[in-house]
Amino acid sequence: MAARFLCRNFYSRSFLGIRGLPNYCLSCCVNTLLQTLSATWELVELLDRWDTAHLKGNDGCNVPLELKKFLVAMQSAEHVSHRDFLHCLDQNGVQLHIQHDADEVFLFILNLIQKQTDDKILAEQIQTLYKISVETHVQCLQCDSIQTKENYLLTLPLHVKEDHTSLEQCLTSFFEEHELRGINCCFCVQCAVKTPSKQGVQLLSLPPILCIQLKRYRNNGRFTQKLGYEVTFPETFDLSTTVPHAFSKDFNQQPCKYTLYAVVVHSGSAGFGHYTAYVRHRDTQSWYFADDSHTHQVSWNKVQTSYGGEHRHTAYMLMYRRTQEDNKHKTEIKCNEGTPK
Ligand SMILES: [Zn+2]
Repeated sequence: MAARFLCRNFYSRSFLGIRGLPNYCLSCCVNTLLQTLSATWELVELLDRWDTAHLKGNDGCNVPLELKKFLVAMQSAEHVSHRDFLHCLDQNGVQLHIQHDADEVFLFILNLIQKQTDDKILAEQIQTLYKISVETHVQCLQCDSIQTKENYLLTLPLHVKEDHTSLEQCLTSFFEEHELRGINCCFCVQCAVKTPSKQGVQLLSLPPILCIQLKRYRNNGRFTQKLGYEVTFPETFDLSTTVPHAFSKDFNQQPCKYTLYAVVVHSGSAGFGHYTAYVRHRDTQSWYFADDSHTHQVSWNKVQTSYGGEHRHTAYMLMYRRTQEDNKHKTEIKCNEGTPK
């Protein structure tokens, strides 16, 4: 009992932002996402800035408002409940009592933030947090003409294959050009018919939060299969050295170094499974494992057991934060300059 009491005291001071969330009507998927969103302090700070006083008395349908209430409470020592948020999602189509796909729900939440936040500048700032701008080019193999189109992604979907055993390989494959032939032929404006072509995608800009989805589900026409292949991923990596050919000539130079801060893990099969998360504490940088109401500190070695392969639980989404080494250095210099001697 004494140990439990000590734990509670410690919990209220140092575990802020990482607290267990009971499973409520099969909510492990949303629970896991809430843990990762709570670890995305940039999002919490933006939502906290949103003036919602005039939205009082809403009918519990506004997803960003309920998300704000939950995430702000998560950072405090107060009692926190995620039931209002779960019911709000339910009213918006993410039903309770159903096991959902974490990437789909994540994108759904981001979409609802855009739709339901009345502060449009804030909504745009939240989208900018995740926005990966890309340029897709299609080159006709008959006339060599190139068509390009700008687009953006909020998560980077990387195919998991038997011979792609690392995140670096998955990224290389994503940015490689591939040929489109047969039924995949595209219409060429110059040739005025569908022609074989080669297609590629290049980066125009990278976001502060890089969210990667490891596409582990493959539909073979009759049922969905989960691919348990091992995919290793680093704690830190630099995209400019990992995939140097992934950058468009119009890429506006930013630091491309990223540090992992959250992992969404899926255990079980495609049709039946359980979601958990590894999240990093903002101050201590220690890793924690969150399995519904249970949370405990773990080592980086433990996080690595979600690589897949022989392990049953596999990383499904990886959340990386851009490392602002230069800016941090500049801020420190600025602070020191302002200190009276
Ligand atoms: Zn052509």
